[in-house]
This record gives sequence, C-alpha cells and structure tokens, in this order.
Amino acid sequence: MRRLGCKKVSESVLENIRKRTELFISEGNRAPSLAVVLVGEDPASQTYVRKKAEAALSLGFVHFQYSLSADTEEKDLLHLIDELNERDDVDGILVQLPLPRSIDADKVIDRIAPEKDVDGFTPINVGRMAIGKEAFIPCTPKGIMETLRYYGIETAGKNVTIIGRSNIVGKPMALLLMQKGADATVTVCNTKTQNLKEHTLSADIVIVAAGHPGTIDESYIKDGAAVIDVGVNRIDDPSKEKGFRLAGDADYDSFRDRDVSITPVPGGVGLMTVSMLMENTLEAAIRRRGR
Ligand code: NAP
Repeated sequence: MRRLGCKKVSESVLENIRKRTELFISEGNRAPSLAVVLVGEDPASQTYVRKKAEAALSLGFVHFQYSLSADTEEKDLLHLIDELNERDDVDGILVQLPLPRSIDADKVIDRIAPEKDVDGFTPINVGRMAIGKEAFIPCTPKGIMETLRYYGIETAGKNVTIIGRSNIVGKPMALLLMQKGADATVTVCNTKTQNLKEHTLSADIVIVAAGHPGTIDESYIKDGAAVIDVGVNRIDDPSKEKGFRLAGDADYDSFRDRDVSITPVPGGVGLMTVSMLMENTLEAAIRRRGR
C-alpha cells in the first residue's frame, strides 16, 4: 500500500500562497480578507471554522468571523450576506454548511456575490466551471486535483469512478475530471447504482465521498489503482480523549497488503480543502483589484 498523505501537499500549496500574498501586499494592496459565517453549534462545523481561521491568520489574511445562534432567522442571515457583499474590505465569503433546517441553504448560497464566492457553490460559479470558464472551484474537488498532480497520478485516458453525487464533492469532481486537460472517463455512482463493485473494479482511480465508513474495502479496488477517500466520519471511541475517532469511507487497514495508493483519514484530502479555500480567497482579492 502507498499512503498518499496530504500534509506536505497542503504545506507546499500554503507556502506558495504565502509568497504570492507577500508580493500582493508589497505592491500596495491590503491583505486578502475572508469572512466566515457559522450558524449554530455543530461541533464538526466549529472545528472546520477554527481550522479555516487559523490558516487565514497564518497567511497574514484578514479574518472576520460571524458566529450566529442556531435560531437565527433566514432573513437576518440574508441581510448579513448582503452587507458582506457590499463591504469593500471583504474579498471572500464562506457560509459554513450545514445550516439549521429552518434556513434554506440554497437561498443563502445564491445570495453570495459570485466574485466573493470562495467556496464556488453559487449557480454562477458552478455554471462557469461546467463550461470550462474561469470560476471559483469548490475547495475539496480542487484539492483532490492538486493531490493527484502532486503524486503524479495521471487522469488522462483513465477510468475514474466517483462514489457520491453531492453538489459539494461528487458533481464538481466529475466536472473537473471530464474537462479538457484532465481528460478522464468518469463514472458517478449513487445509492441506486447497481453492483457498485463492478464500477470500482474497472477504475484506475476511485474517489469515495459517500459519508459512510466502510463503503468500500480492498475487494472493491484493482491492483495498481488509487483511492481518494473524502469521507470524514466520527466513530465513537471511549479510549480517545474526545470520545471519538475519525475514519474515512474506505476501510483503510484492509489495503495494507495491496498494491494500491490511498489517502488516509485524517491527514488526507481534508487538509487540502482548507488550503484551497485560502487559494480561492487570494484569487478573489486579486480579481477584485482588477487583475
Ligand atoms: P452527501 O451530500 O451525503 O452525499 C453522499 C453521496 O454519496 C450521495 O450522492 C449518495 O447517494 C452517495 N452514496 C452514499 N452511500 C453510497 C453507496 N453505498 N453507494 C453509492 N453511493 C452512495 O455527502 P457529501 O457532502 O458529498 O460528503 C461526503 C463525505 O465527504 C462526508 O463524509 C463528508 O463529511 C465528507 N466531506 C469531506 C470534506 C473534506 O474536506 N475532507 C469536504 C466535504 C465533505 P444519493 O445521492 O443516492 O443519496
């Protein structure tokens, strides 16, 4: 088994962003800025938001944090988005998902100005990406493309099977891989897919984003293939200080004696998601200055 750890990959991306940011500021621009909006107290979301804040501050970005209570009304959240859209000192806006059920997440995402949509979730950015125009690319799929590049895993002419079709992972991942330049042949699976194994066993790369631990094990993967495990699942574990451990969607240990490359969880593509958010924020700052 070859472990495709993402710490070094993400550090090299962050180092590059740091240098580009220093240059940007040395040219007389103010530091890129990111506004992060968190609604409610979901512990996983709080962790993600904290990691994003730490990364932004470590790069010298300006970081604005809005922590709203779970009973925030949709109209008040939309009002905040309108304000952030208008503010000249905000380059990127991120609304941490999931939002409480009482709020229509699509409506909130739609409200973010496309030029500040550093998560790449607004219909304008999704549409632009789909037709291969300049757009903010959703951070997790973008980070996976960077990981494949870093490890020299070729996509052109390869069969890639994606397990999951969500708007934030599966669908944008498929769009990126099928584009000219990436040139993969892509299969996208969902819970109605018949005989999942048939699709994964024929793949050179399997990207699993199902949200369930143990969705695949070594029997689903052919020799020489790569597995990108996007899943982040909390498994109860009283032996851990926090009472849980993290696991991906692939049964990592089952691959130990196989000729397969695989990203671990933790230490895998989750690290890339944060780095790519920082890259998109720098891009937003640069584009908003008209370059
Ligand atoms: P999601 O919205 O729940 O989507 C899961 C997708 O997987 C759905 O399309 C579902 O099919 C499909 N699926 C589930 N079980 C399947 C199975 N056995 N066979 C085939 N398809 C199956 O989840 P998501 O937001 O895409 O996230 C997926 C996972 O990635 C989660 O664990 C999440 O925490 C993690 N994640 C990690 C990062 C990161 O930075 N590392 C970022 C985002 C998400 P249906 O459409 O038919 O229901």
